[in-house]
Amino acid sequence: MDINYNKFSKDELIKEIEKLQAYNNELKESFKSQNANFLEEFRWAGNLGQWAWYYDKNVVLFNDRKTMNIGYDPKMVGEIGFEFFTNKLHPDDYSRVMNNMRKHLKGETQAYEVEYRIQHLDGHYLWYYDRGTVTKRDSEGKPLILQGVVFDITESKQVEEKLKYLSERDALTNIYNRRMLYEQINDCIMKKLKENKPFSLLMFDIDYFKAVNDNYGHLVGDQVLIELVDLVNKDKRAKDEVFRYGGEEFFMILPSTELQGAIVLAQRIHNAIQEKEMPKVGHITVSMGVVEYKEKETIDDVIKRVDDLMYLAKQEGRNLLRY
Ligand code: GH3
Ligand code: MG
Ligand code: MG
Repeated sequence: MDINYNKFSKDELIKEIEKLQAYNNELKESFKSQNANFLEEFRWAGNLGQWAWYYDKNVVLFNDRKTMNIGYDPKMVGEIGFEFFTNKLHPDDYSRVMNNMRKHLKGETQAYEVEYRIQHLDGHYLWYYDRGTVTKRDSEGKPLILQGVVFDITESKQVEEKLKYLSERDALTNIYNRRMLYEQINDCIMKKLKENKPFSLLMFDIDYFKAVNDNYGHLVGDQVLIELVDLVNKDKRAKDEVFRYGGEEFFMILPSTELQGAIVLAQRIHNAIQEKEMPKVGHITVSMGVVEYKEKETIDDVIKRVDDLMYLAKQEGRNLLRY
């Protein structure tokens, strides 16, 4: 027989919920005894407890840790609906979470399962991993109760973000590395294919940099690289990106830019570099190549074309821009 939860008084509802919680505890205990493995213990200890969402009444019951974790006093919060949590979702995660839940409510997925950011009372965001399922439907298949568990995964997300940062960037200058250059050129090629959006590439290499190291030492050489990147970052347009390709070789991707515009920007940066007074070393110069991407070129094709022009600038005397 189906139970109509709309007819429950609050006391009856709480009794039902207590029954569910007892059932969950039983499950948890049997799980524990079957898996006396400390890793599993850790996984339970790390969670913020279970929740139950009485869908018809929009009443959410949850472990107090879930509200305390985002800075709220459970006693002050009182009876809440799901909006209490969804209103605190990060705007970039909101529709992803809602779509995931909608799909599950319609019965299209086995479980509702998402990672999202939720705002603490202080304003900062925490990362949660949330997983649940409809545990009761009425005779027509309409959801009555959903239950799930939430984990605070902020720390592991921070480690993940740090690793991502390290894998994408150059340790000396903190700009994107060669791997990211390839990835972003690939993205630009896709945009050119789909939307016919042009883009240009700029490459430069410091002239006689070995002499800088030989005369002033490697640490001064490093400082020159840092200052150079700082200068280019300040001089470029917001949409342009700088990459460290290798030792003292750099690339720039200039999105939505045809050759003429790219040459103007390249000349400006070329001049700004030679005018800058570098600590101890004085002035440095660079040799530059600039190209606009041509249809059907591969990543290697376009890199080779700009590299050849940069080497032409070297051969023709250095401190030059070739296109
Ligand atoms: P060219 O005008 O032909 O480019 O001459 P160059 O001396 O700049 O070229 P070369 O390729 O002979 O030397 C590049 C030098 O850059 C060699 C290397 O010691 C130095 N270098 C590469 N990476 C770093 C770095 O991270 N820090 C420092 N200080 N030097 C670096
Ligand atoms: Mg060089
Ligand atoms: Mg070089």
